[in-house]
Amino acid sequence: MKYVGAHVSAAGGVENAPLNAHRIGAKAFAFFTKNQRQWFAAPYTEKNIELFKARCNEFGYSPDHILPHDSYLINLGHPEEEGLKKSRAAFFDEMKRCEQLGLNRFNFHPGSHLNVISEEACMDRIAESVNMALENTKGVTAVIENTAGQGTNVGYRFEHLAYIIDKVEDKTRVGVCIDTAHTLAAGYEIRTKEDYEATFQRFDEIVGFDYLRGMHINDSKRELDSRVDRHANIGEGIMGMDIFRFIMNDPRFDDMPLILETPDETLWAQEIQLLYSLVR
Ligand SMILES: [Zn+2]
Ligand SMILES: [Zn+2]
Repeated sequence: MKYVGAHVSAAGGVENAPLNAHRIGAKAFAFFTKNQRQWFAAPYTEKNIELFKARCNEFGYSPDHILPHDSYLINLGHPEEEGLKKSRAAFFDEMKRCEQLGLNRFNFHPGSHLNVISEEACMDRIAESVNMALENTKGVTAVIENTAGQGTNVGYRFEHLAYIIDKVEDKTRVGVCIDTAHTLAAGYEIRTKEDYEATFQRFDEIVGFDYLRGMHINDSKRELDSRVDRHANIGEGIMGMDIFRFIMNDPRFDDMPLILETPDETLWAQEIQLLYSLVR
């Protein structure tokens, strides 16, 4: 069974995320655990937590289908001590928030080397950051997102994800999230059945489907191998519809959050319907 939803707003309190998801007919959802453009936020209150859990219960959202996302400021592979320290503190805080909400996975962007250190050194720092975070928390899996490889971001090769996973001590609490738009922009062709099968076979060989904890379902405005991260609404970019039909009929993507991060949120309810209509 497929669990399709969107990255919904948690403005006004984290308890609004399940409500916003329910309103668009989502069966899964993502949200920012706090304001994604600020370093600090007030801790959750008892009331936030109780209401979040009660609404997830009421609307039928299991933690297995909820994929909280980290803030854009965090760089777990930061080349400088100061930036790294700040990023790690913020990451630990967000992991804790997931734990408080009773969630089991936390999606993050791996990090950027900023042209100061090598990709390997950056990934070593990311793995070390993950190890520290896992030591500080219980029950939450750190979910590494593949990137488009824009700027100095690492994580645009499946080998990068495997490299980081290899250095994480607790393999039971590390996973990955694959974004369709990032995959294409990073140079992996997925638009024909042949290319789709070949790319995901490579993913399986290099990373492994066992580590897959969710997908970001986005169309892309930018071409194959552009290394530019620009999402488009489904059917409005360059991906075509076949890729979405393949995913919706592929049991390897069952029982995990399939999250829209498309730019026009007024279309989300329609896009969710559209994706389900592709199921044969
Ligand atoms: Zn992301
Ligand atoms: Zn993106």
